[in-house]
Amino acid sequence: MTPLAPGSTIGVLGGGQLGRMIAMAAAQLGYRCHVFAPERDSVAADVAAAFTCAQWHDREALVEFARDCAVITYEFENVPVAPLAALPEGLLAPGTRALEVAQDRVREKRFIEELGGRPAPFAVVDHDGDLAAAVERIGTPGVLKTRRDGYDGKGQWLLRSAADAQGVRIPEQGCVYEGFVTFECEFSVILVRGRDGEVRFWDSPRNTHERGILSHSELPAPAVVGAQLAEARALAARVADTLGYVGVMTVEFFATAQGPVFNEMAPRVHNSGHWTIEGATISQFENHVRAIAGLPLGDTASLADRIVMDNLVGAPAMDLAGHLSDPRAHVHLYGKAEAREGRKMGHITRVG
Ligand code: AMP
Repeated sequence: MTPLAPGSTIGVLGGGQLGRMIAMAAAQLGYRCHVFAPERDSVAADVAAAFTCAQWHDREALVEFARDCAVITYEFENVPVAPLAALPEGLLAPGTRALEVAQDRVREKRFIEELGGRPAPFAVVDHDGDLAAAVERIGTPGVLKTRRDGYDGKGQWLLRSAADAQGVRIPEQGCVYEGFVTFECEFSVILVRGRDGEVRFWDSPRNTHERGILSHSELPAPAVVGAQLAEARALAARVADTLGYVGVMTVEFFATAQGPVFNEMAPRVHNSGHWTIEGATISQFENHVRAIAGLPLGDTASLADRIVMDNLVGAPAMDLAGHLSDPRAHVHLYGKAEAREGRKMGHITRVG
């Protein structure tokens, strides 16, 4: 593809903080962004040139939006796929295949197995009656997760014993029951794949979650991650190659005594890569824009031996003066009006 000319418009499906940071990186490269999102208070729209506030299923609005865009990307993996068929072919990067795989936990795990990766042992639980057999086969403890639409720990239930499974109502969309993984730590592989198939990796952080929400990413990751990185990267690259992926993609792993266990993939820029804004030569956001715009990819090297990123989650996040009193803290606030519990309000990165 010929590189997008400066001044071209990049469409962004989704209006959250990831879209906001994509739009900021795009602006640095001379592009405009047009955000499409169903929520009126979309923080990406605050920093974009144009905003279409419409429902995902509004095909007319999508087609109209596409007329303004030289390329369209997404910052949210649960964008419904069917309406995207209304978009002109080739406009969407990454494409719809990555969405289809990542939107369904069962499909995602099977896809990973086909590529030689190892998810946690799992059983499909489509109906109430399937759960007892799933628990029997996989054992406890385990985690019951909705097949679709779960994120930040939503739609997940820990089952400590078979008794916990009694009386559980399985939602209509179905669930998957996973064995609980005993891990030494969690880490993510963050990569960018260009239009020509070139793949580059950032360093992998150790990620810490609180109640299913990422709270902290830290480099360097412990030695156990280093020992498992080659295998994890090889799998992530196979995922990207097989999907013909263009842009930034993240694959989350558990580092276990048996090697890297696949947790989930995100076909988009990722919270565990926010440290790359100040901590890497070229950030995940800029390289995502470069990839979808057909520009050469930038260097992904880390700029310091030690880099930490802390999420600001919920109301206590708003001790702004406290955060700013650390002169080395790069403070990012997403401009969200309401600080609800569990809501990502911003993050802080410290380099070196
Ligand atoms: P997920 O949204 O599936 O990535 O889950 C959020 C977080 O919950 C993960 O990053 C883990 O910290 C924890 N978790 C999810 N599934 C499992 C599992 N099968 N075993 C252990 N911890 C899990």
